[in-house]
Amino acid sequence: MTLTITQASCADDYDPNSMPVDKARQFIHTFLTPIRGIARVPIRTALGRVLAEDIVSPVNVPAHINSAMDGWAMRFSDLAPGTPTALLEIGASFAGVPFGKSVGSGECVRIFTGGVVPEGCDTVVMQERAQANGKSITFAPGIQKNQNVRFAGEDLKAGAIALAKGRIVRAAELGLIASLGIGEVAVVRPLRVAYFSTGDELRAVGSHLEEGQIYDSNRYTLHGMLARLGCEAIDMGVVRDDPALLEQAFRDAGAIADVVITSGGVSVGEADFVKALLGKLGEVVFWKIAMKPGRPLAYGKIGEAHFFGLPGNPVSVMVTFYQFVRDALLTLQGVAPLPVQPLLKAICTSPIKKAPGRTEFQRGVLYIEDGVWKVRVTGEQGSGILKSMSDANCFILLNDATGNVAAGATVEVQVLEGVV
Ligand code: AMP
Ligand code: MG
Repeated sequence: MTLTITQASCADDYDPNSMPVDKARQFIHTFLTPIRGIARVPIRTALGRVLAEDIVSPVNVPAHINSAMDGWAMRFSDLAPGTPTALLEIGASFAGVPFGKSVGSGECVRIFTGGVVPEGCDTVVMQERAQANGKSITFAPGIQKNQNVRFAGEDLKAGAIALAKGRIVRAAELGLIASLGIGEVAVVRPLRVAYFSTGDELRAVGSHLEEGQIYDSNRYTLHGMLARLGCEAIDMGVVRDDPALLEQAFRDAGAIADVVITSGGVSVGEADFVKALLGKLGEVVFWKIAMKPGRPLAYGKIGEAHFFGLPGNPVSVMVTFYQFVRDALLTLQGVAPLPVQPLLKAICTSPIKKAPGRTEFQRGVLYIEDGVWKVRVTGEQGSGILKSMSDANCFILLNDATGNVAAGATVEVQVLEGVV
């Protein structure tokens, strides 16, 4: 099936007044193909990047049969099942310094965690279950065969896939890759994301404000969110609401980036001329999403680049970024599977007024009281109040069907920690 972007606005169940959040998300997803381009980097540089190739283990992990405990290694068949057994200690195996010889019947070897289990031995008894009298060591009964022994290849066999392509490299992956002796990995090149703000009222930080003017904050929140996703963020500044300047900015951004993000200029009134402009440069659909905040949203292509036109209000920018753009950017970087964003249930301690028919993302503070998870709203929820976002550690997610929420009701929350 080939789907053109403009088909979204004439689909059978499309309601021009409200596009459901999930539907818009799914629609965008059909146009996302991961970028090509690989860089080989030293493993530390791979932190936060996406693996472009499977990491195949060149070795068995662990490489050798070894002990999981400090104790003694012996043959299981030497241990009497119901009574203590005394064996003769004939040497020691330290981590990195193996005993090196074979162990016979009636013998045992002092062994430390990580030490190679000597040939002939199949079981380790922890030192707490043994009594040493010179070289004669007495073991308590009740030991099982292979107890406290880690076998070669038990964690990972040589030739097996240790990490699949598409995984984001975190601290655990860095360590795992290093444990295989691999010093360099192939990662997806950073996604190039160009962004600019639109609006005659916007001024850059550091300049003097005349009456009616405001500082541009959206480029800063966008910078923060893009940097957290490992994107190469290309700041293209503020562009005035002037068709010629906007056309040039869209052309420039589309030519250098994989993704173009703008804020402002997609609301009713402003949208018409931006719509006409983008119609010339590519294919873009404008939606009124059935959500609050973040109603107007545009998605499409400017040449080869993906385009997201976010609303202008600072909170709406962040909410629409998290709900639509974030997963799209991860998908374009080849992340698979996408990290799940858990929804937790919490008792809402603030009453919330809400009309059914749209999804709301209220900014909340999740906390624990007497062992119960609770959430309260951050205060005024206006889409221009960035402080509500800064004070929040979660979104309170109220779906389409939900109406007013009484204090004490259970709600779903999406935790922001680790994401913002
Ligand atoms: P718009 O979507 O362009 O109509 O903008 C909606 C509201 O968001 C207006 O009050 C704008 O002044 C404000 N706004 C738009 N862009 C920005 C920005 N980059 N930084 C801060 N506020 C903005
Ligand atoms: Mg504007």
